[in-house]
Amino acid sequence: MEKLQNYINGELVSPTGGAYFENIEPATGKAYSLIPDSDSHDVAAATRAAKAAFPVWSSMSIQERSDILLRVAQLIGERQEELALAESKDNGKPLKLARTVDIPRAQANFHFYATAILHFASESHSMGNVAINYTLREPIGVAGCISPWNLPLYLFSWKIAPALAAGNTVVAKPSEVTPYTAFLLSKICIDAGMPKGVLNIVHGLGPKAGADIIEHDDIPMISFTGGTATGEWIARTAAPKFKKLSLELGGKNPNIIFADCDFDDMLRTTLRSSFANQGQICLCGSRILIERSIYDRFKDAFVEQVKKMKVGDPQDESSKLGAVVSKPHMEKVLSYIKLAKEEGGTVLCGGKQANVGGAFAEGYFLEPTVIEGLPHTCRTNQEEIFGPVVTLMPFDTEEEALMMANSTKYGLASSVWTSNLKRAHRVAKELHTGIVWVNCWLLRDLRTPFGGVKSSGVGREGGFEALQFFTEPKNVCIKY
Ligand code: NAD
Repeated sequence: MEKLQNYINGELVSPTGGAYFENIEPATGKAYSLIPDSDSHDVAAATRAAKAAFPVWSSMSIQERSDILLRVAQLIGERQEELALAESKDNGKPLKLARTVDIPRAQANFHFYATAILHFASESHSMGNVAINYTLREPIGVAGCISPWNLPLYLFSWKIAPALAAGNTVVAKPSEVTPYTAFLLSKICIDAGMPKGVLNIVHGLGPKAGADIIEHDDIPMISFTGGTATGEWIARTAAPKFKKLSLELGGKNPNIIFADCDFDDMLRTTLRSSFANQGQICLCGSRILIERSIYDRFKDAFVEQVKKMKVGDPQDESSKLGAVVSKPHMEKVLSYIKLAKEEGGTVLCGGKQANVGGAFAEGYFLEPTVIEGLPHTCRTNQEEIFGPVVTLMPFDTEEEALMMANSTKYGLASSVWTSNLKRAHRVAKELHTGIVWVNCWLLRDLRTPFGGVKSSGVGREGGFEALQFFTEPKNVCIKY
């Protein structure tokens, strides 16, 4: 079986301890490659390489750094099909999605930050005739970047690209559940002429190699995307070392539908925001709040469409849903469907493992599931499920919709559907989320701040926010 390798100091290397674990293809349930089970020795080697590369990389001209990152972007574009196929196989997501969203976005992340850095300016503050202050924004050193399995290369590159563009070197770990495209990225970096040690990719388990990155004294900043419980541990561990932290965590996003919305547009988009990537996008709307006067109309139309969504072979263009990412994750989602029933919910469609058959008989497929009849306060409506499961809840007033929307500990994203402009502004202002979409979903401009409030995270990615995170401001005050 193919053995993936770490990328350390510009070379593909085996883990020092020689240990590997299996990489499972979610659509078949079968192992197809082996992942390095890296330990503290590998993380230490990667960090040493990154530390040694920092002085040269950080003092290189911005244009030179930009050119290297642009070459990475270009090679991702040239190898799009290979990367999309790998992402679909590794994650279970429909190939079409990997082709149209994941890989183009990974390319865009490198392209965006390779050019953003050319326009990144710092502030100056005049004190009249007395003095001038200017702020230097300097790269910090070695950045630790850790990403999840749901959008593997997309989120991995979303961290690595700004960290490198800002002049830092990087020790990164992709999710052990979906490591394959990060492995392909190491090969791309070699081909792109990335100087050795600038980017290091260590594969392995979160509590082992991941924790070693968090704890390493020579890694002063951490950019993490993943679950809230992991984020909590990272915050607790990194705080006494005074590391800079950016945490992008879980969500339980509300989708608020008012009776005056464009119904067809809303319905089409709500199908996507509920079930794209099998509901495993941190931005998916899993609590659908519907104004009571159109509740039945929405329910009937939505359930009719959901029943038509094909669950199947991720490489088949007609499959709307592929497999969820792993067996434990499938079991977790099923346990929430069971909980929803115990809490008094009615399953309107789905609710079970999907039987895809053939080569996929052992795969982790779930039917898209719609549940109604639950109070907004129950666990099903408060905890992150992160699968193809949504709940429907009616509301009578704008105040009630906002109260329900804001009632969870999370605050990542929300959607609002209305054609009343005043209401759109009012509701957007009152929602406790880092991102609000009005009459759309997942429409992304990479210049905008991205992140959550409450238990959905700390800090913002995107645009210059990420470049600010990956640099340290130093104010210089000069008296005239
Ligand atoms: P996870 O927290 O289990 O793992 C995320 C990454 O952290 C993996 O690479 C894992 O190996 C690593 N990790 C685990 N334990 C660690 C530790 N102790 N120290 C260091 N690293 C550790 O999350 P997941 O299951 O891979 O991803 C799903 C979660 O990610 C969901 O909660 C989802 O909402 C969230 N997510 C958030 C965003 C966002 O932008 N806010 C985006 C995507 C996913």
